[in-house]
Amino acid sequence: MPLEVVLATHNAHKVAEFQHILGERMPGLTVLPYDGPEPVEDGTSFDENAFIKARAAASHTGRIALADDSGIAVDVMGGSPGIFSARWAGPGRGAEANLELLLAQLGDIRDPHRTARFHCTIAVVVPDAAGTPLEYAAVGEWPGRVATERAGMNGFGYDPIFLPDGFDVSAAELAPEVKNAHSHRARAFRALIPQLERLLDGVAGSGAPA
Ligand code: IMP
Repeated sequence: MPLEVVLATHNAHKVAEFQHILGERMPGLTVLPYDGPEPVEDGTSFDENAFIKARAAASHTGRIALADDSGIAVDVMGGSPGIFSARWAGPGRGAEANLELLLAQLGDIRDPHRTARFHCTIAVVVPDAAGTPLEYAAVGEWPGRVATERAGMNGFGYDPIFLPDGFDVSAAELAPEVKNAHSHRARAFRALIPQLERLLDGVAGSGAPA
C-alpha cells in the first residue's frame, strides 16, 4: 500500500531531501509538501518548534506529519543561537551576517571553551480523530567547536565556522556526502527511520488510510 506523509515546510528542497533519504529505506513512502497555513513558531526549544509545525500540518491535512527544526548551540553562550540560529543577526540579515556576529561574540573565547553542537529535531505527529494524536521526536546532535575564522565553500549557514569533532576541517570543507553521513540531520534521520517503519507498518497493516 502506498504511504504518504506530509512534511511541514514550504521549502521544496527540504521535501526532496526527506523524500530521498526516507524513500531509500521505505520505497512505498511519499513525502508530500505542505501548503496550508504556517503557524507562529513561538516555542522555546527545537522540539517545541518542530511539534508546533508538525501539529499544524497534521491537523490541517489529517495526515501523518513530519517537521524539523535545527540550529547551532554554543556551550559558552548557554546554547545560543539555538532556536534563533536563522535570524541571529536580526530578521532578514542572512547567513553571512549571522556567522560574522557569532565569530565576533566569541572573539575573546579561547579554543577549549568554543565547544558547540548542531542540533536537529524531527517531530512526527499522527492525527487521531478519536483521541490524542500520537507524537514523538527523533533527535540528532553533531558535536564540534566554533572556529576562529571561516573556511570552506560547501554547505550553508554556520558550516564555514563549525569544526566537527573527529575532523580537522570545517563542515563547509567536507564533501557533501561526508557531511550528509555525519551531520545532526543524518543522526536524526537514523533515529527516525526505525520509528517511522514501525509506525507505517502499523498503518499499512490496519488498512487505515495513509
Ligand atoms: P532550519 O530549522 O533547518 O531552518 O535551520 C535553522 C538555521 O540553523 C539555519 O538557517 C542555519 O542558520 C542553521 N543550521 C541548521 N542546520 C545547519 C547546517 O547543517 N549547517 C549550517 N547551519 C545550519
